[in-house]
Amino acid sequence: MAVCHQSDNDNEAIEQIDEDIAVTQSQMNFICPITQMEMKRPVRNKVCGHTYDEDAILKIIQTRKQQKKKVRCPKIGCSHADVKGSDLVPDEALKRAIDSQNKQSWSTLEKSAGYPAATKKICYERSCEISC
Ligand SMILES: [Zn+2]
Repeated sequence: MAVCHQSDNDNEAIEQIDEDIAVTQSQMNFICPITQMEMKRPVRNKVCGHTYDEDAILKIIQTRKQQKKKVRCPKIGCSHADVKGSDLVPDEALKRAIDSQNKQSWSTLEKSAGYPAATKKICYERSCEISC
């Protein structure tokens, strides 16, 4: 039944959703899932594709190593449970995106409808990180 409806109607909906996702993701990608702050030196995990602030993820890896425990990807919803320092690569493209965004006015972000949703998501991630 759903297949039959995937025509004109859906195209319109997809366009709208795409725009929302683009806004939310571009904000979320700048935020480190560990520190909840904008990343200064983003590194990308080659295995699961998530990005973290370099200092924050290295600190976690170090701490866990001392406890002889594996590092779970701190990104919410990620099932990758063995993060290694050697899997992390500097994300230059993201770094440039953050830098260029910082040159723009923050008021654009505040006006956007995606902002409250993004904030809510950050809270979930924080509580998840604590429970982990
Ligand atoms: Zn991940």
